[in-house]
Amino acid sequence: MRETPLTTAKTVVIVGGVAGGMSTATRLRRLDADAKIIVLERSGHVSFANCGLPYFVGGLIEEEDSLTLQTPEQLFDRFRLDVRVHDEVVAIDRTGHNVTTRSTVTGEQTVVSYDKLVLSMGAAPVRPPIPGYERVRTLRTVEDAARLASDVDVAPATAVVIGAGFIGLEITENLVRKGIAVTIVEATPQVLPPLAPELAILVEEELVAHGVRVETGASVSSVGERSVSLADGRIFPADLVVGAIGVRPEVRLAELAGLELGPSGGIAVNDANQTKDPDVYAVGDAVEKADAISHATSLIALANIANRQGRRVADHIAGRPSHPVASLGTAIVKVFDIVAATVGWNARRLADAGRPFRAIHSHPFDHATYYPGATRMAAKLIFDPHDGTILGAQIVGRNGVDKRIDVIAAAMSGGLTADRLADLELSYAPPFSSAKDPVNVLGYMAGNILNGDCDVVAPEDVDTLVEEGWTLVDVRTEEEHATGAIPGSINVPIDALRDHLDTLGKAPVVVYCAVGQRGHTATALLHELGFKARNLDGGYLTWSASLRASARRAAGPSS
Ligand code: FAD
Repeated sequence: MRETPLTTAKTVVIVGGVAGGMSTATRLRRLDADAKIIVLERSGHVSFANCGLPYFVGGLIEEEDSLTLQTPEQLFDRFRLDVRVHDEVVAIDRTGHNVTTRSTVTGEQTVVSYDKLVLSMGAAPVRPPIPGYERVRTLRTVEDAARLASDVDVAPATAVVIGAGFIGLEITENLVRKGIAVTIVEATPQVLPPLAPELAILVEEELVAHGVRVETGASVSSVGERSVSLADGRIFPADLVVGAIGVRPEVRLAELAGLELGPSGGIAVNDANQTKDPDVYAVGDAVEKADAISHATSLIALANIANRQGRRVADHIAGRPSHPVASLGTAIVKVFDIVAATVGWNARRLADAGRPFRAIHSHPFDHATYYPGATRMAAKLIFDPHDGTILGAQIVGRNGVDKRIDVIAAAMSGGLTADRLADLELSYAPPFSSAKDPVNVLGYMAGNILNGDCDVVAPEDVDTLVEEGWTLVDVRTEEEHATGAIPGSINVPIDALRDHLDTLGKAPVVVYCAVGQRGHTATALLHELGFKARNLDGGYLTWSASLRASARRAAGPSS
């Protein structure tokens, strides 16, 4: 067994050489020219782009080398980092301040001493004990991607992707790009479980439009040679099977070393990302983070957080002040020609936690409609009904989704309330936005609710109000009404409303239009005229998406 001796300079050993680990290493070098920085990585690559792996499988990223942002040699040349690949850390001796590594090539063991140890071991794909699961490919490392890419090169006709989360959908798109007929099997009742059902249905429709078979509410019972069997007895052909059902934090080493885990099973750390041992830090997917909404700890596996935490640890080791940042869980995914993004919590999670909230929907265009190419988004904003704290947002659309979710994430980080989104001065020219950006519009809508100017009805409450005797009025044009309307509604176009008040009778009124905007104007007019009126949140578009989502759930798998 070789020994790496301690020198007089501080020795910082980092386990895991990708997002969190490499951020720590390079930041630390910029802060401390003398520190001896050793990065130990068990795979054959460091500093690789795990987020790009699905696109390598699909051939959009053509060269495997493009996935590797830096090689050990480049990292030595620029940063004087001692980067050792194929070196797995198998034990941590906290008392002796050293780790034992084992070469994954030769099996040789080495003891490496440290003054400070940083654990950034990431997370491993969950592999459930389902018969035949050993045939299932997962995607985490460059080696995984290379294996999957060579499977794809032999031109399989069919594939089953297990799991319709962010990575499952990215893999699906890339397999379809390769001409493979893909079935997605997802245990929950919808694709992209973090999204609201009325937004997730838009993603499912995009998948189906691209020929993907989507089986939600279905679970895999076994994986065969060329097929996948479901618990309900159905069997799908599968020359290739890819699993993307989530990850579990890599904590075994930390547990063996007597470090504490948090309630969600990740490594427990303080605000400076120190474990209970002040000389051992942990960052990235392996650790529990403070959640910005609940302030409790939870597991959130995202590259931005890993990078940020790595930088913070470097600052702390170098004696710089660092401040904790709670995690919002801001995430985005491209699914063929649409984009889905989320930040904060969804309504389901808030309801489960018993947290009061209001939700509003809008369907703004990504840019001025008079400029060619404008497309609609579906946006949902969730906020505290008392103080306006933004609790979450989700957006699905073709263009401009990334910008809007990021503005909302920035507003949440800065502590802006939902109504204050209206005040944001955002860039505008016709190809990019409207003078009232979609985020401003969400702010106006939230403000109207918070200050009591407008009372909206959630799509799921319409039937109850109609049963209670409310009149349902569609204020869209006759042509729009003819293309599809909420059953039982009467059509009084907004421009004719003043002249047809008698048709409304004396009952209170629920007003709707396509997206809620004309409905808002009509509701205000009716209030002025002495009617009791409420506007349907998100209009016909949200109502019909909710209906399709409910119908899809009710139909279950194989619909
Ligand atoms: P990792 O980057 O996984 O690095 C951990 C490293 O530690 C690994 O290379 C591993 O080999 C090594 N290691 C583990 N144990 C040992 C040991 N005992 N000894 C030595 N080395 C060890 N996030 C986003 O925000 N956006 C995205 O679009 C996105 N897309 C993704 C797509 C895919 C296919 C995958 C797999 C992940 C994606 N992520 C995305 C998540 C993101 O990659 C992770 O959140 C991030 O990489 C976590 O950084 P980390 O340093 O904690 O772990």
